[in-house]
Amino acid sequence: MVVMEKTEARIFAVSRHRLVTDGDGCTTLVTFNGCPLRCKYCLNKSSWNEDGGRVYTPQTLYEEVKIDQLYFLATHGGVTFGGGEPLLQVGFLKEFRALCGNQWKLVVETSLNVASELVQAADAVLDGYIVDIKDMNPEIYEAYTGKNNALVLKNLEWLLQQGDPCRIVVRVPHIFDFNTDQDVANSMEQLKAMGVICFDEFQYIIR
Ligand code: SF4
Repeated sequence: MVVMEKTEARIFAVSRHRLVTDGDGCTTLVTFNGCPLRCKYCLNKSSWNEDGGRVYTPQTLYEEVKIDQLYFLATHGGVTFGGGEPLLQVGFLKEFRALCGNQWKLVVETSLNVASELVQAADAVLDGYIVDIKDMNPEIYEAYTGKNNALVLKNLEWLLQQGDPCRIVVRVPHIFDFNTDQDVANSMEQLKAMGVICFDEFQYIIR
């Protein structure tokens, strides 16, 4: 399959000066429009509108965020791309890396529920992943997101095979009304067996 790459994207927020919430050091969080999932407690529903936000090229984004270059370099931080689903924007990520060079850390907050070709194409320009795994039980996952998790498992397995499991943090949420503490423990167990070593177990906030 040919990976389609476009180097323009809709972005609904650029948040500066975030400290260790989206990766190491001082980061700027850039959130793309467009997401394949429909999570019941999504906090970024505005990202579902693919025509929302503002159109950026990698160059216009780079010009805007480079104001914090000194912070990025001093703290080993950089830009974290979220959404929505940042791995739908591979062409943008690659071009952005070419502009910012190798000293900024580029991290994605992703569900990994995208075509494997996209994950494999993006991996060359990324330093880290924050993976929101939802729940490893396929029925719970589908009830909560509206999609099955087969691609998530395939992509996570592939990423772990590339080495350095420390670059992948897997977020395992307690999801009110959808999973139990035992379900979360089961997910952690399965993930450890796959080779995941960095976890963020947390409670979803419902608004
Ligand atoms: S993956 Fe994230 S942005 Fe997409 S629906 Fe779920 S919570 Fe919302």
